[in-house]
Amino acid sequence: MKPEKIRYQNIEEQFPQLLQCGLEVNEGWLPLIWDMCEQLLASREAINIPISKENPLHFVQIKEKFGTLRAYAVTSTEEDEKIISMFEDMSQFICDVCGDPGKIRGKHWVYTACDAHTKPSDK
Ligand SMILES: [Zn+2]
Repeated sequence: MKPEKIRYQNIEEQFPQLLQCGLEVNEGWLPLIWDMCEQLLASREAINIPISKENPLHFVQIKEKFGTLRAYAVTSTEEDEKIISMFEDMSQFICDVCGDPGKIRGKHWVYTACDAHTKPSDK
């Protein structure tokens, strides 16, 4: 079950087979990562390709870069890749501090934030 407030540990416990790396992102993106993992598993079930040695699926790095989510995975299916890039795209509209709607901010240091979490110098 999805907790109301998702913490790093929740995701690691819920999706141990997918997460073989740390989560190098702020807490605001944890619901996004939770949904991405859930959708990946649902998609694998729908196309009937279980995760296996021949058809692997696990993340090797999940981090923020230039304001958006980067989730690097070892995978063998196109569906997995489509889902991952869809969530990477969505991250540019979600504040990585609180999870509220946001957008890309900053001139030199680029990040994604809601109004409240935008630095005064970037407003
Ligand atoms: Zn925020």
